[in-house]
Amino acid sequence: PSIKEPPPVLSPRRPTRNFNVGDVGVGSDHPVSVQSMTTTKTHDINATLQQIAELTASGCDIVRVACPTDKDAQALPIIAQKSQIPVIADIHFQPKYVYAAIEAGCGAVRVNPGNIRKFDDQVGDIAKAAKDSGVSLRIGVNAGSLDKRLMDKYGKATPEALVESAVWEASLFEEHDFHDFKISVKHHDPVVMVQAYQMLAERGDWPLHLGVTEAGPAFQGTIKSATAFGALLSQGIGDTIRVSLSAPPAEEVKVGNQLLESLNLRPRKLEIVSCPSCGRAQVDVYKLADDVTEGLEGMEHPLRVAVMGCVVNGPGEARDADLGVASGNGKGQIFVKGEVIKTVPEDQIVETLIEEANRLAEEMDLD
Ligand code: SF4
Repeated sequence: PSIKEPPPVLSPRRPTRNFNVGDVGVGSDHPVSVQSMTTTKTHDINATLQQIAELTASGCDIVRVACPTDKDAQALPIIAQKSQIPVIADIHFQPKYVYAAIEAGCGAVRVNPGNIRKFDDQVGDIAKAAKDSGVSLRIGVNAGSLDKRLMDKYGKATPEALVESAVWEASLFEEHDFHDFKISVKHHDPVVMVQAYQMLAERGDWPLHLGVTEAGPAFQGTIKSATAFGALLSQGIGDTIRVSLSAPPAEEVKVGNQLLESLNLRPRKLEIVSCPSCGRAQVDVYKLADDVTEGLEGMEHPLRVAVMGCVVNGPGEARDADLGVASGNGKGQIFVKGEVIKTVPEDQIVETLIEEANRLAEEMDLD
């Protein structure tokens, strides 16, 4: 078989140290991974595991769970053991839960230094416990919970303030010879967030976890995250990502995966190439594209399917794709691998495309 060249990327990854979160490698030697966070009460073990299974099925690499109470901490061992993907425990305020999460077998623990009282005094013990158990950490600095000292110094959560907090906490762990941690400096404003990560990337070789915090409902949050992550990933900055949406977490994963696929940082799966339609369209392109997308939902094969409204760009794009249709005069010319294989009446376009896509997918499986 011919060796395919890897698809182009906008920039090589920024070199970082590497470590594991459970069995997922994090850092520039590994692919950028997609994270999400459960919305269930963590102590509701069944509901949490059910949601983790859904996230795993939608392509999530690492999942984070909140741990605000004793009951949640007690649930961590079973969740960590039964989850198909590594679990990160999210700890605010209470250092005792950091130790509980480490003992529970979580892949990593997220600590928020701004929110843990006397955090600096705890670093040595946390570092030792994590190191002894092979658990990694994330130092998660957040604009909304920045250390009071830095708020006083900078007046608000500026990029400089976020970075100063992160670098300070990183240095404390490193003084205790602990190095397996990534850092996030999240802000709700994509511009401030991008500036903070760019600054942080210059300061050390830590893997960086990207997030625009409180990004909003699905539409706004998707755009904000795509804008900010795109700016950073196109410079090689970012090793794990979490798209925060006020929407079910599986949606976050879908967006995260699509984002990485768009930048060629993750192999592309199914791709629908559809035109925006215009006054020349001779078919309802939106409906056609929606129906084909729906009909091929869940297909994992790297197929490009072109759905084009007329003969202007239609045949060209359709020829370029693995499979496509160029519509016109109530008919659709179906292309497979650049050749017209048949012309079908408009009402058979969708079923024909789905049939052909499934046939091509089967052929790929046999290869
Ligand atoms: Fe318009 Fe045809 Fe282009 Fe679609 S393919 S946008 S219908 S010109």
